[in-house]
Formats: sequence, C-alpha cells, structure tokens
Amino acid sequence: MDFSLSDEERAIRDTARQFITREVMPLEQEALRRERAHRPGLEPGELRELQLKAKKFGFWGLSTPAEYGGMDLSAVLQSLIVTEVGRTFVQFRFGGEADNILYHANDEQKREYLLPTIEGDRISCFAITEPGAGSDAANIKFSARRDGDDWILNGEKTFITNGNDADFVIVVAVTDPEKGARGGGATAFLVDRAMGWRSEFIQTMGEGGPASLIFEDVRVPHRNILGEVGQGFELGMTWIGKGRYLIPSNALGIAERALTMAIEYANTRETFGRRIGENQAIQWMLADSEVELEAARWLVLRAAWTVDQGEDPRHSSSMAKLYGAGMVNRVVDRVLQIHGGMGYTRELPIERWYRQVRLMRIYEGTDEMQRLIIARDLLRGYARIGGHLA
Ligand SMILES: Cc1cc2nc3c(=O)[nH]c(=O)nc-3n(C[C@H](O)[C@H](O)[C@H](O)COP(=O)(O)OP(=O)(O)OC[C@H]3O[C@@H](n4cnc5c(N)ncnc54)[C@H](O)[C@@H]3O)c2cc1C
Repeated sequence: MDFSLSDEERAIRDTARQFITREVMPLEQEALRRERAHRPGLEPGELRELQLKAKKFGFWGLSTPAEYGGMDLSAVLQSLIVTEVGRTFVQFRFGGEADNILYHANDEQKREYLLPTIEGDRISCFAITEPGAGSDAANIKFSARRDGDDWILNGEKTFITNGNDADFVIVVAVTDPEKGARGGGATAFLVDRAMGWRSEFIQTMGEGGPASLIFEDVRVPHRNILGEVGQGFELGMTWIGKGRYLIPSNALGIAERALTMAIEYANTRETFGRRIGENQAIQWMLADSEVELEAARWLVLRAAWTVDQGEDPRHSSSMAKLYGAGMVNRVVDRVLQIHGGMGYTRELPIERWYRQVRLMRIYEGTDEMQRLIIARDLLRGYARIGGHLA
C-alpha cells in the first residue's frame, strides 16, 4: 500500500500552492475590506486577469480535455488543486473551465456555448432547483411546450449560482409530464438571457449570492436542446455529481488554513499567565480537528481515485461530501472558539468562513440526501462495507 503522491502530482500541487500564495493571498485584506462594503471581493475583470496569469503558470482548464486547450487532469490532481484554492478566501478559481455537461453539445452548440465559456467570454449557470423542488429534483414543474420549430419555456428556477451574471443558462424543463422527469420526461435547454429570461438576486448568509430565474413564455429554438429530448434529468445528475468530490476538496483547504491560524493563536495568546494552548480544553479542539481533517482527506482522495479508476464514484463521493462538509463546519467553529472574541470580529476571516462553509452541507445534495444515498446503496447491496478493499 502506498499513500504517497507521485513526483508529478507533488510538483503540480506545489506549483498551484505557489501561485495561490504569491498571487492570490496578497489580495485577501482588500477582498475583506470590499466585502464589508457589500462589494465583490474580486471584480470580474480582476478574476480574469488572475486566471490569465495562472495560464502562464500552466494552469488552465483543470478538467478540460486537451483538444480544447485544457490540462485534462486526473480527478486526484483536480482535487489536490481545489484544496490549494480553498486555502484562500478570495473567490478565485482557475480559468478555462466549462460545465461538464456542455461536452454533450453538438458541434454548432460547442462553437456557440462551450468554446466561449472555456475562454471566459461567456458565463453560464445551471438550473434545476425550483421553489417547489430542491432535494426532490425529480418533482420539477418548470415546463417546455413544443410550438413548431420552437419550445415555449415557463416557470421559475431558484438558488442558481452565477444566475445574476450568466448570459446563458442550462435549464432542465419538463417536456413530457406523463413520463415525469426521472422517466425521460425532462430535457435540458441552452437559453441565452437575450431570449427573454430575467434574474432576481437572493441575499444569503454568504458573500455574493445566487438568483431566481424567471421564464415567462420564453421562446427557444429546438436546436438549443442539449443532448437528447428526455435526457435532461440524467444530465442534471451528471452536473451535480461532479461537485461531490470537489466541494469537500475545497473544504480541506479551508480547514487546513483555519486550523493553522488556531495553532498559531494557541501558541501566542496568553491567559492566566500561560499560553492558551497549554490548556487541555484547547488541545482537544486542535486534536479533534486534525483527526477529522485527516479522515476527510482520505475520503476525498478515495472518491477522486474512484473516478480515475473509471468506477462508479457515487457512493464514495457521497461519503466524502457528507463527512467533508461536516468536518469543515466543526473545524471552523472550533477555530472561532479558540480565537475567543477576536474570532467573532470581522477583522479576521473566521466569521466569513463560518458563514461560507455552512452552505457546503446544503447545496449539490444536502447532508440528508448524502445519507439517503449511502444507506440505500448499503441496503440494496450495491456498496460493500470495506469498499474496494473488501
Ligand atoms: C447558495 C446556493 C447555491 C445553489 N446553487 C444552485 C445551482 O447553481 N443550481 C441549482 O439547480 N441549484 C442550486 N442550489 C439549490 C440547492 O441544490 C438546494 O437548495 C438543495 O438541493 C436543497 O433543496 P431545498 O433548498 O429545496 O431544500 P428541501 O429539498 O426542501 O429540503 C429541506 C430540508 O429537508 C431535508 N429533506 C428533504 N427530503 C428529505 C428526505 N427524504 N429525508 C430526510 N430529509 C429530507 C433536506 O435535507 C433539508 O434539510 C443552490 C442553493 C444555494 C443555497
């Protein structure tokens, strides 16, 4: 058994770490200042500039196939790099990426939607959630009705990330209510904002915010169907599946950075004539955090490795997402506690992480949905206790 990284994996991970440390972390104080003034920590133009700088470092399109100019990295390497990105709270991401399901586009759609998204010239969002259907995504009601060569789309999508900035949406609509979404009655459409939908910003605990998308008789040409008629639900689940190991990968980076801050504080802050780190109460919080962080790391890497083996990663990804999201919430809470009153202030980024990481237990499948998947796999004998070593 070998738990080490290959020389190549280590080299790429270290270069990503260098980039984040040298180019992104120096922007943190300014990002915090702006966010407190209710502005984006990083303006879109600044993000673009950083992404182009990263491109010169060799980082462009982590998951994008080489034929589209990307790095086409293994899932393990993508996970390692997303962990590095998690170390900074500046809302940075490497460029050259597109939603995984846009590769189901036909040649014409690829030219119009996929390629400009990879280049950063267009911004996409993905919409399946509705006011009446979140966890129960198969219960969507947003409708698409055929009208000659077009479809007429009606309904509301909600909590859509990038929904305010996107110039097109990949939206999942019910095209055959008889069949239902899961039974082949849902279809994915590529819909430009210019075709007539509008967005409304939703305020949340976190920085930035998702949007509601409102469609009132939006006319969409038949050629804008992504994939096949009836394939929409399947594409939706493919889109969501991708984040299941990347969200906890990001959580690892946040927890590592926050825990490092707590260790430094425990080693310097004094009460009752000695450093707080000398108290067992503080030591236990550090120890529990380190153990949980390490446990999450191996669940995440195992999930990514399962993707690389070409095996079904759903069970291992659900375990990684459930545990990783819970872990980072517990770690950030302890780190805040160790910092006392300072942890609660906006001078430090801890309260910001506290708000940010709460989302990880909710989006792209809540804790409860991950538990449901894991338990169902066990009960029907699909997953074996002991995983691939069993
Ligand atoms: C900031 C943010 C960004 C998002 N981005 C996107 C996006 O880009 N695109 C998109 O389509 N969606 C997006 N979402 C939606 C997100 O995926 C949903 O909010 C999530 O799936 C939960 O759905 P819901 O909010 O309707 O909660 P509900 O499904 O109503 O659930 C409410 C509670 O009941 C629990 N629950 C539900 N069913 C069961 C059950 N059977 N057993 C036990 N417990 C259950 C849930 O776990 C939860 O705790 C985003 C959400 C947020 C907050």
